[in-house]
Amino acid sequence: MLDFAREITPLIEKYGEVPILLNLTKGMNEEQLTQHLKNESLKNPYVEILKHLCSLLPEPLSLELLHLAGINPQEEYSKISGAQKAKFINLLAWTPLTVTGHDVFKMAMITRGGVNLKEINPKTMQSRIMDGLYFCGEVMNLDGPCGGYNLQWSFASGHLAGGLNRLLT
Ligand SMILES: Cc1cc2nc3c(=O)[nH]c(=O)nc-3n(C[C@H](O)[C@H](O)[C@H](O)COP(=O)(O)OP(=O)(O)OC[C@H]3O[C@@H](n4cnc5c(N)ncnc54)[C@H](O)[C@@H]3O)c2cc1C
Repeated sequence: MLDFAREITPLIEKYGEVPILLNLTKGMNEEQLTQHLKNESLKNPYVEILKHLCSLLPEPLSLELLHLAGINPQEEYSKISGAQKAKFINLLAWTPLTVTGHDVFKMAMITRGGVNLKEINPKTMQSRIMDGLYFCGEVMNLDGPCGGYNLQWSFASGHLAGGLNRLLT
């Protein structure tokens, strides 16, 4: 979600809202979803579809998706028509959502934008424009996906800017 937010936020600024298709079932495709629900229903034939779906998704989300597909959550899987099943499986594999906003800069995890890297000497982090001015971390125009890249960049550039490598050699 965070990596998506990184790409989607600028699109919201541009277009107001962004339609997306999201797979909430850890990437299971239509075939795998069909097989999964079929297996669940063979194991427990008289159990309602909602319970089968809860093996994949949280209950409130399962209820909402069944509602969207026009399926009674209490219905047994075998009693649902083929066309409805196909519609539902498609909805599970490609859930349509519209992103209409974001939690503003205050809630953001990373700043995008900052001092132009071309204006900084990458060996020392010193400004090419003003002697004695050094940069580190987010203040520069560089950011990465989630996974520690931003912290690593902050530590590494801070190490360089602090001149530790120069002091140690
Ligand atoms: C909730 C959250 C989760 C995150 N998770 C990850 C993650 O899992 N992995 C990852 O790589 N990155 C993560 N990040 C991003 C990462 O924390 C930042 O990119 C990194 O900490 C930036 O380091 P920095 O030193 O540039 O800035 P900061 O860590 O923001 O340090 C700037 C410091 O300057 C101080 N300051 C500000 N103004 C002044 C002033 N006028 N005078 C004196 N001091 C001032 C601030 O108080 C602050 O201590 C996360 C960020 C957030 C908000």
